[in-house]
Amino acid sequence: MPNSTTRKLVILDRDGVINVDSDAFIKSPDEWIAIPGSLEAIARLNQAGYRVAVASNQSGIGRGLFDMAALNAMHAKMHRQAAAVGGRIDAVFFCPHTAQDHCECRKPLPGMLKMIAERFEIEPADTPVVGDSLRDLQAGASLGFRTHLVRSGKGEKTLAAGGLPEGTMIHDDLRAFALDFLANASA
Ligand SMILES: [Mg+2]
Ligand SMILES: [Zn+2]
Repeated sequence: MPNSTTRKLVILDRDGVINVDSDAFIKSPDEWIAIPGSLEAIARLNQAGYRVAVASNQSGIGRGLFDMAALNAMHAKMHRQAAAVGGRIDAVFFCPHTAQDHCECRKPLPGMLKMIAERFEIEPADTPVVGDSLRDLQAGASLGFRTHLVRSGKGEKTLAAGGLPEGTMIHDDLRAFALDFLANASA
């Protein structure tokens, strides 16, 4: 059985949370640019005993905008840059489908988060899900995760549109989330 430390997990959306988002999709490692402070925030969470998993819709694959080799190269860059500041991302779950595929993993459906909960043996009620889009929060809320909106990426638009799941907490960016979350966790 994992001990309580290994059960501490934070689940992050990728685009608009860890890296700068684009309406034209992030299609190559060159287009994958970390948001200032986001990788350091991951390192800070790790240092406090939290593992970090990513759950990301990547319909650009299903749309044929980029392939698995490009996605793997983006994630290699993400892992490398995180490691350079002492951070570690333990798992990257992604949905390659488009809405037309009617899969169960594309957020707002909870499939990816369900797999993460099973893989890491965590309780949703103890685990934050951080996203910049309503669908990230809806996926989390439907399983009882604690939902956190960042204003980076599409977050400002998401906030303005309203309708956030009850209890959603709002932070400027991932850096601010990590500071707020860890301050509350140790309080
Ligand atoms: Mg996003
Ligand atoms: Zn899917």
